[in-house]
Amino acid sequence: PWPIELDEVTVRYPNGVTALKGVSLRIEAGEMVAIVGLSGSGKSTMIRTINGLVPPTSGRVAVGPHAVSELRGRALREARGDIGMIFQGFNLADRASVFHNALVGRFSHMPTWRTMLGLASDVDRDMVMRSLDSVGMLEKVWHRAGALSGGQKQRVAIARALSQEPAVMLADEPVASLDPPTAHSVMADLASINASRGLTVLVNLHLMDLARQYTTRMIGLRAGEVVYDGPAASATDAD
Ligand code: ADP
Ligand code: ADP
Repeated sequence: PWPIELDEVTVRYPNGVTALKGVSLRIEAGEMVAIVGLSGSGKSTMIRTINGLVPPTSGRVAVGPHAVSELRGRALREARGDIGMIFQGFNLADRASVFHNALVGRFSHMPTWRTMLGLASDVDRDMVMRSLDSVGMLEKVWHRAGALSGGQKQRVAIARALSQEPAVMLADEPVASLDPPTAHSVMADLASINASRGLTVLVNLHLMDLARQYTTRMIGLRAGEVVYDGPAASATDAD
């Protein structure tokens, strides 16, 4: 696992909105951290800046040895290979099988399914199976992703990220579209991945209760600025 560092990161979008205002913070290797804040506070921008999808207007972002904010093209794609990413909307290929969706994690740079399947080795297949097993999705391996429930889809998305063998895992509102019991079980999966693999996990949440229950450190954002950074368990709504 790797640390994540933001140094005076400002992000201004072309429409003039400043989504992050000089944010500096360091997340240690192996931490399980929640970013909380209202809609529009900059959570999603922060995650997208850490994995290089949104370049900072000024400041610096590093994920372990990768100076993400300074990378372009192929070097950036390689850095992203070490960063697992989970989205609110799952981003699965609904018509493909669970297996194929999870295999994509090992071949994110491949142009077509055909190339990917042609190149998949026993090592790749084994890693995919182990990733699906760790989120309890092995028995659905040949089901079509589109036929799964929301919680199952998010577990497949977690397996896809794990099959990358990432050093850090970023999750942008991963449970926002799930019902409460399912949201809890997906958060429990993320927490157990953090605990068992020591993987650095950074997760955007708009519900403080989930942050208190499943993470150890909470970073509160308001209008693009850090307004709280401390233990998750003792954070109150007033913070
Ligand atoms: P969230 O609050 O979960 O980030 P939003 O509804 O704010 O979701 O944004 C959904 C998508 O629209 C995102 O990809 C975001 O980058 C984009 N978006 C949000 N606000 C703007 C805006 N003012 N102009 C252009 N795109 C935007
Ligand atoms: P959150 O994830 O906390 O909802 P976002 O990072 O999505 O916050 O948004 C922060 C601010 O930046 C909001 O005002 C939003 O409208 C704006 N924003 C987000 N994405 C874009 C975009 N692609 N273009 C322009 N403005 C955006």
